[in-house]
Amino acid sequence: MAREPGLNTRCVHSARTADASTGAVAQPIYLSTTFERDADGGYARGYQYSREGTPNRAALERCVAALEGGVGALAFSSGLAVNMALLELLNAGDQLVAPIEGYYGTLRQFREHAVRRGIGVAFADFTTPASVRAAVTPATRMIWIETPANPLLSITDLAQICAIGRESKAWVVCDNTFATPICQRPLDFGVDLIVHSGTKYFGGHSDVLSGLLVVGQDEALLTHLRDWQRLAGVGLAPFDCWLLRRSIATLGLRVRAQCANALRIGEFLASHPAVERVYYPGLSDHPGHALARAQMRGGFGAVVSFCIIGGSAEAIAVTTRTRLFTRATSLGAVESLIEHRASVEGPATAAPQNLLRLSIGIEDAEDLIDDLDQALR
Ligand SMILES: *Cc1c(COP(=O)(O)O)cnc(C)c1O
Repeated sequence: MAREPGLNTRCVHSARTADASTGAVAQPIYLSTTFERDADGGYARGYQYSREGTPNRAALERCVAALEGGVGALAFSSGLAVNMALLELLNAGDQLVAPIEGYYGTLRQFREHAVRRGIGVAFADFTTPASVRAAVTPATRMIWIETPANPLLSITDLAQICAIGRESKAWVVCDNTFATPICQRPLDFGVDLIVHSGTKYFGGHSDVLSGLLVVGQDEALLTHLRDWQRLAGVGLAPFDCWLLRRSIATLGLRVRAQCANALRIGEFLASHPAVERVYYPGLSDHPGHALARAQMRGGFGAVVSFCIIGGSAEAIAVTTRTRLFTRATSLGAVESLIEHRASVEGPATAAPQNLLRLSIGIEDAEDLIDDLDQALR
C-alpha cells in the first residue's frame, strides 16, 4: 500500500486544487450568499445558500478532516459554538462526565447552560481514570476530555478514557486545541469526536475566531451535526474559512517551532530563582510527562504555565514588564502572549493567584528567554 503523506504535506495539499475556471492556485474567496439553480431546478454544482455551505467552508472542512483522520469536519463561528452543538446531542436526564480542569468557557457552558437544560454534569479528575469511571452512571452519554488541559496542562490517558466510554456506550469527546493534530491524534485512541478552537493554532495569527468539529467514524452522526450547524446558522463565514485554510499550510512548521521554544522556556523557568513551579508536560517533573510522551508526538504543545514566588500582585507586575510577550489572553499564534490567568477567569477560578500562563510563539527562543529574565528580575 502507498505510504500515507506526512503531516506537512497534508497541511499544504489537503483539499487544495487549482481553481477550475481560472487556474488560480490560491482558492478564490466566494462571498456569494446564493447560488444559481440549474435549468432543471437542481443544484448539481453543490451549493445553494451560504448558510448551508460554501466552497471555502467545504475546502477547510475537508482539510481538517484529513489532518485528524476523521470521516468529516465542520467549521463553526467559534470553539464555543462547537461545544454547544455537541451539548445539543444530549437530552434532559442524560449525564455528561466533565473534567475539573478545562477551558473556563467550556466549564461555564456545562455548569450553566447544560445544567439548565436538565443535563446532569458530573465533574471528575481526569488524571485518574478511576475517578472518571466512578462518575459514570447508566445515564452517561458523553465523556469530555481536554488534554493537555487549561491552565495546569494536566494530561488525560486517552486510551483508558475511551475504554470507559466504550463500556458505558457514551461518546468520548476530546478538546484537542492545546495539542493540535501535529502533536496528538485523538482518533487513533478511539475518541469519537474532536473539538478545536480554530482561533488558536489553526488560525495561528490572532485574527480569526473559529471552531472546528471532527467526527471520527460515524457518518450518521456527521450528517446530524452538519444539519444542526446549518439549522443553527453557525457555519464559519467564507473569508474566515479562507484565512484558516491559508494558515493551515504552515500549521506543522509553526507548531513544531512553538513546541521547541516552549520546551526551552520551560527549562529556563524551572531553573529561575523567582519561579516557584513550572507546569509544562515536556518537563520530566510534570505529573503527566510519561503519559504525554506516550500519547503525544512531535512536541508537548506551546502553553507554559508557571507560579512565581509571591501572590497576585507580583504576578501581575511581571506582565507589565515584558516587552516581547504581549499582555493578552488567548494562545496559539505566532506572537508570544502572557496573562495572569486568575484575572481572566474571575472569582470562580481554580487557577492559582500567582500563576502566569504563557503562549509561546515563533520568535527566537533566546529573545523570549531574555525578555522573561528581565521581567522576572
Ligand atoms: C479558546 C478555547 C476554547 C474556546 O474557543 P473560542 O474559539 O474562543 O470560542 C475552547 N477550548 C479551549 C481549550 C480553548 O483554548
